[in-house]
Amino acid sequence: MMSTSWVASANGHPDFPLQNLPFGVFRRRGSKEAPRVGVAIGDSILDVPACLAAGLLSDASDEAQRGARACAAPSLNALMAMGGGVRRALREALMALLAGDVAEHKRLVEQHALVAQAEAELFLPVQVGDYTDFYASVHHATNVGSMFRPDNPLLPNYKWVPIGYHGRASSIVPSGTPIVRPHGQRKGPDDAAPSFGPSRSLDYELELGAFIGTGNPLGTGIPLAQVDEHLWGLCLLNDWSARDVQSWEYQPLGPFLAKNFASSISLWVVTLEALEPFRAPLAPRAEGDPAPLPYLHDAADQARGGFALTVEVWLQTARMAAAGEAPVRISQGSSLDLYWSFGQMLAHHASNGCNMRPGDLLGSGTISGAARESRGCLLELTWRGAEPLQLPNGEQRRFLEDGDTLSLTAYAEREGATRIGFGWCHGTIVGAASPPPGTT
Ligand code: CA
Repeated sequence: MMSTSWVASANGHPDFPLQNLPFGVFRRRGSKEAPRVGVAIGDSILDVPACLAAGLLSDASDEAQRGARACAAPSLNALMAMGGGVRRALREALMALLAGDVAEHKRLVEQHALVAQAEAELFLPVQVGDYTDFYASVHHATNVGSMFRPDNPLLPNYKWVPIGYHGRASSIVPSGTPIVRPHGQRKGPDDAAPSFGPSRSLDYELELGAFIGTGNPLGTGIPLAQVDEHLWGLCLLNDWSARDVQSWEYQPLGPFLAKNFASSISLWVVTLEALEPFRAPLAPRAEGDPAPLPYLHDAADQARGGFALTVEVWLQTARMAAAGEAPVRISQGSSLDLYWSFGQMLAHHASNGCNMRPGDLLGSGTISGAARESRGCLLELTWRGAEPLQLPNGEQRRFLEDGDTLSLTAYAEREGATRIGFGWCHGTIVGAASPPPGTT
């Protein structure tokens, strides 16, 4: 397989070289075109339905052509439902079009099927039917637990069960969507009673999301050895969280309004094939930790169930933006710090017969490592506001303020492989101008 593309901007691109080809939904900005599926290549997008219409895929396999036809849709759901075989076939066909220096391909693709990302409008890539958020970082669970329950930080089930809760799909929004500061019942630890108003401790959570391709019928499970045929690809996920609302409402049933006002995802879905060179063993469990129960233990998952991704959080305050100052990185961690793999999360989710469906989204939970600079939310970075974050311009942050732009990114690089990245997942906090109707 050729490793470079005739799309010059792809070669050496930090996120979207030929080896990545993540899928998204786009149209030309300002046009009335129907949104459709494309893949990112360098600074451009390859328009899959346009390739099909121009006859560029007429030599491709039937599977690849079937996948390409499913790309004439405003979401990836139909393509996801076709599973891993179709995804792999389509990816190979698109890669062949973009690889090397085939003059005829170049001429036809450039003429019919290449759109500059700068001239495109990107949409939510997937219509998410069900969204489940896990809690897979033991460092995050321990840190948060020690703030909320100092005597009992890590609950006894943690090392046995991939803990999760059912989130809300309707408020999943694409990167770039402004995030309105939510109202809610806030109660500080020293307040006698709660009050209702805009959250005073709005936070982000750095997470990865995994999309389901083919699902499983109700009443059946997904064995851990088969999860790779059900997982479709990964995205960035910001699980915005109102900590003052959360600490008051979360017992006994878990997160509710503190987390369902918005969850941002990145615009491009990175496939398992693009991530293949970066599969890695799961982090070894600490001495004395229980071994996973048999349905959560599989030799292949232990050996390659992890993804070696560097994950980062960047912040630009309104004052920084006004002064023309660039965003600053406030944390950097690794997805290999997760205690549970996405495979274990999926196998566990379906282990009671729960039916997963194409386009379902599993969140990893906040990705935090052992080091302070690898904590994946402000709650941990500032230890619930006790140790404010000092920014280069003299500003401090305990939690997010109106006008702050928070950005997540992730990338994979290693010797002998071409670096790939996820692009960005941005969100700017907008003030809660007035209470929602009906609440006063
Ligand atoms: Ca979360």
